[in-house]
Amino acid sequence: MAHKVLDFAHNVAARILRPGDAAVDATVGNGHDTRFLAERVGPGGQIWGFDVQAKALRRAHERLRDVSASVTLIRDSHASMAAYVAMPMRVALFNLGYLPGGSRAVTTTAESTITALEASWSLLTHDGRIVLVLYRGHPGGAEEARAVLDWAGGLGSASVVRFGFTGRGGAPPEALVVARRPSHGSR
Ligand code: SAH
Repeated sequence: MAHKVLDFAHNVAARILRPGDAAVDATVGNGHDTRFLAERVGPGGQIWGFDVQAKALRRAHERLRDVSASVTLIRDSHASMAAYVAMPMRVALFNLGYLPGGSRAVTTTAESTITALEASWSLLTHDGRIVLVLYRGHPGGAEEARAVLDWAGGLGSASVVRFGFTGRGGAPPEALVVARRPSHGSR
């Protein structure tokens, strides 16, 4: 199921992104999502990618060798994103949890994820999207997912879409898309 949820997240990002856009990968990991975003924005596009693990950034660097977009990989918490991202971005992607093939002890956490979401919300273009993939299976994952849903639900001027599977039991991953609600006019 994880791949269907991730496909959904990618499809949303692909529909929104235009050539030359700026976007953020808040959780670079192995760099698959960073590459996906970079290919969508193309030459002239700008991607900032964050991860706290050098191992992740090394793998991502390899994976991004031949992309034409300008990609800046930053070894810092996404909570500090406002210090690095120099322009409004159309998409901020958060693929939470732990590094696939890495230590399961290093995971995203509710506190820094919420700080990063606040920063993303202020940096987002008027028609941009914050796209998240939430996992509940690891320690702290359920709390983090709850905090993210509470944060999104508390935004007065946002529309929030949830994508997931019902009736499967366990703790399946889920995607969340947060957009600004138009203040007037359209419906
Ligand atoms: N998008 C990746 C999967 C992400 S894994 C892929 O497709 O491969 C989640 C990543 O978030 C891990 O690599 C972990 O190191 C990173 N991470 C954990 N806490 C973080 C933080 N505060 N800021 C940025 N990255 C963080």
